Amino acid sequence: MKKRISILGATGSIGTQTIDILSSIDAEVVALTTNRNIELLEAQARALKPKVCAACDEAAAKQLKIALADTDIQVQSGMDGLIAAATHPDCDTVVTAVVGMVGLLPTLAAIRAGKDIALANKETLVCAGQLVMDSAAKYGVKILPVDSEHSAIFQCVQGAQGNALDRIILTASGGPFFGKSADELKTVTREQALQHPNWSMGAKITTDSATMMNKGLELIEAMWLYGLPEDQIDIVVHRESIIHSLIEFADGAVLAQLGLPDMRLPIQYALTYPERLPCKVPRLSLAEIGRLTFFAPDDAAFPAMRLARRAAREKGNLGAVMNGANEAAVGLFLQDALPFWQIPELVAFAMDEVPMQENPTLDDILESDRAARAAVNHWKMR
Ligand code: NAD
Ligand code: MG
Repeated sequence: MKKRISILGATGSIGTQTIDILSSIDAEVVALTTNRNIELLEAQARALKPKVCAACDEAAAKQLKIALADTDIQVQSGMDGLIAAATHPDCDTVVTAVVGMVGLLPTLAAIRAGKDIALANKETLVCAGQLVMDSAAKYGVKILPVDSEHSAIFQCVQGAQGNALDRIILTASGGPFFGKSADELKTVTREQALQHPNWSMGAKITTDSATMMNKGLELIEAMWLYGLPEDQIDIVVHRESIIHSLIEFADGAVLAQLGLPDMRLPIQYALTYPERLPCKVPRLSLAEIGRLTFFAPDDAAFPAMRLARRAAREKGNLGAVMNGANEAAVGLFLQDALPFWQIPELVAFAMDEVPMQENPTLDDILESDRAARAAVNHWKMR
C-alpha cells in the first residue's frame, strides 16, 4: 500500500537518507520541513512535489516562500509549520527526523491526528515518554523505531511470538573516545568529538555519541518503547557496529540483528513494516569483517550513562530535565563555549537543581526543559 509521508527535518542526516530510500518503496511525500537549510529544501520540494513545506526559522521561511512562488506548494513557518506538516490530512506516516525536543509538540499533534510515527527523534521519548506512549495507545497509532538499536530490537521482537523480553542489550560503538580515561577526556577538542568512527550523523547526536549520552538517551528510549525497567537494559560496547542490539528471553536465548552500519535499512523497515523490500544497503560479509569485539562500558569516564539510568529509574520530569540540560550543554560545546568534559557535569548539576515532579503534564515537561536550559546557562555565567 502506498505510504503518504511527512518528513520533519528533511534536510538532516536522517531526513536525506529517508529521501534516498523513497525510490525503493511505494511512497508519496506530503510535507517536508527544515530549520533554515532552504536551498536543500527547495531542491527536495521541486523533486518530490509535496503539498506543504515549512522552515522553522521565520526569515528562512520568507525566502523559501519566494523561492517556491512559481509552484503551488504551501510554505509555512515556525512551530505552526512543523505541526501543519505533521498533521496534514493527506499524510499517514510522519518521519520525525528533527533534532532535539523541538520534535515533541509536532509528534504529539501527529499522534492525535492518527498518524503513525517513524521515530528518529529520540529526545521526544526521553522528555515525555509516558505522554507519547499513552497518547499513541489512546489514538491507536504505531510508533515505529528508526534508531538502529531500537529497530534491531523491533526486528528481533517479530520472532518473540508474544513472549516477554527478559533483557535488552543495547550495543554502543563507544564513539571516538573509547578507551580514554576521565583525565584524558579533559583535553579533547570539538573536532575530535565530531569524528565518529562508524556513522555519519548530525553534530548533536555525534557529540552525544562521544559523551555516551546517546546511549543513555537510547536506554530511556528503549524503556518506553519496550516497557522494560532500566535494570533489564544492558549496554555493551561493540566497536564494529555490526550487531545493532539484542534481546534475551526467559530461557536465556538471545536474538540479535546484524548488518553493516547504514541507517537506510532501519529507516526503510520503519516505512515498510511488516513487509521487507530490497534495500540499497550493501550486504554483510562476516568473513570480510573477521571478528566482532565486545567491552563493558566505562561509566566512570562516561558518567552520562549513569545520569540516564537515574532518569530512567526516577522518571517524572527528570528525563526532560536531563535532555534539556544536555541540549543546552552540547549547544555550548559546539560553539566552543564549554569543554567536552563539562557536558555531563552540567547535566548532573541541572538534574539536582530543577525540582522533581512525579506525574508531569505537557506544560510541566516544557517548563522543566526551560528550567534545565536556564540552569545550564546560569551555571555557565557564574
Ligand atoms: P541533523 O542535525 O543532521 O538534522 C536535523 C534536522 O532537523 C535538519 O533538517 C534541521 O533543519 C532540522 N532542525 C534542526 N533544528 C531545528 C529546529 N529548532 N526546529 C525545526 N527543525 C530543526 O540531525 P540527524 O543526525 O538527522 O538526527 C535527527 C534525529 O534523529 C535526532 O533526534 C537524532 O538523535 C536521531 N537519530 C539520528 C541518527 C543518524 O544516523 N543521524 C541515528 C539515530 C537517531
Ligand atoms: Mg542509535
